[in-house]
Amino acid sequence: MSAITTLTGTRDILPAEIQYWQNIEEIARSILKKAAYREIRTPIFEQTSLFERGIGEATDVVGKEMYTFKDKGDRSITLRPEGTAGVVRAFIQNSLEAQGGLQRLWYAGPMFRYERPQQGRMRQFHQIGVEVLGTADPRADVEVIAIACDILQAIGLKNLRLDINSVGNKQDRQNYRQALIDYFTPYKSELDADSQDRLTRNPLRILDSKNQRTQEIVAGAPSILEYLGDESRSHFEEVQQMLANLGITYQLNPRLVRGLDYYTYTAFEIISDDLGAQATVCGGGRYDGLVKELGGPDTAAVGWAMGVERLIILLQKLQPLPVPELDFYLVSRGKKAEQQSILLAQKLRSAGFSVEIDLSGSAFGKQFKRADRSGAVACLVLGDAEAENETVQLKWLASGEQSAIAQSELLAMTDELQQRIMAAY
Ligand code: ATP
Ligand code: MG
Repeated sequence: MSAITTLTGTRDILPAEIQYWQNIEEIARSILKKAAYREIRTPIFEQTSLFERGIGEATDVVGKEMYTFKDKGDRSITLRPEGTAGVVRAFIQNSLEAQGGLQRLWYAGPMFRYERPQQGRMRQFHQIGVEVLGTADPRADVEVIAIACDILQAIGLKNLRLDINSVGNKQDRQNYRQALIDYFTPYKSELDADSQDRLTRNPLRILDSKNQRTQEIVAGAPSILEYLGDESRSHFEEVQQMLANLGITYQLNPRLVRGLDYYTYTAFEIISDDLGAQATVCGGGRYDGLVKELGGPDTAAVGWAMGVERLIILLQKLQPLPVPELDFYLVSRGKKAEQQSILLAQKLRSAGFSVEIDLSGSAFGKQFKRADRSGAVACLVLGDAEAENETVQLKWLASGEQSAIAQSELLAMTDELQQRIMAAY
């Protein structure tokens, strides 16, 4: 029988790679905590209509990429393609606005899009994201951007750039939309098929087209910055001023409109020059219209999402795989020694050490080889003699220095051991 394998566009994240994931998650968690963001976990599947309304039917995500199916109760269900819609639904359903003040939320988890898999583009991928709900203050836009930059920097990524734009408010976009229709209509037959379709439905999205001829035409299109009203203009200026004050460099990109319908005012992307085609590691912006669109109270909001797979591709180029830390590798041979090994390991673990027990029962020589490969700082050896008088051989693997010590004494000198192990890492 042939073995069953993963579906196209999905993959296993094996222990050899997991250290990257855990480092990223830990860094993000600690930076978000310092900024008073709280984690939210929403379901991985939702009613299809949540995404249709929340993301917009004219987008690629809803139009082409959703994993939608009927469940046994004939309900239309979709695996979440992104995090914002679910978080906003949760905000409305649980009346989080009634808790007063604004909500600073973050999430992390898998997302699903039916896309053509390639480097940095998977059908199941992972995002870390933030949403700040309940304020139109441009400081919130700057706060989320600064946090994204902090996380990416703390992870150790380099060669990133920040593109920002303003997509204005509803009125500005309506004016701009008409200007785009007027501009693109004479070129209609030259646009790619998707863009022709978007010409009347969502002409802003033509700016997003990856088609080369369309991009040439886009180059001459009017800029949204010329269509911003006073309010949008001053919001955008404040954002830029504050970014400059923080020393965050950015470049204006008037073609940056993002794929989703609900964005207002600030839109931004953080892009890597080391990623090839799938270069955007983080995308976000303000979406003041969404909460109301989904049936909630009029609530201004801003957020971003970063793609973890793309961060890991970058990290793998930059940093050797971090080695997992291990304090002790415990070797034993002989019935009594083997039995004691479990007890000694448990006692060391409750004293705060990490301990790997060799369970092979093989000759000492083989166990010592594995101890060397384990990356442990020290090896503990229990043989018949040690088991008999409740001692243990303690061998520091880097120097080879070895001594016999009573097990009780070993457990009593935890501070000293701790210090010596820390020094070894
Ligand atoms: P792209 O232009 O790359 O398709 P997008 O505009 O669809 O991106 P968003 O919906 O803004 O992306 O998602 C935010 C981030 O999530 C992206 O910048 C990217 O890092 C990551 N991402 C999106 N889709 C995928 C995918 N299929 N596989 C891996 N990462 C993804
Ligand atoms: Mg996409």
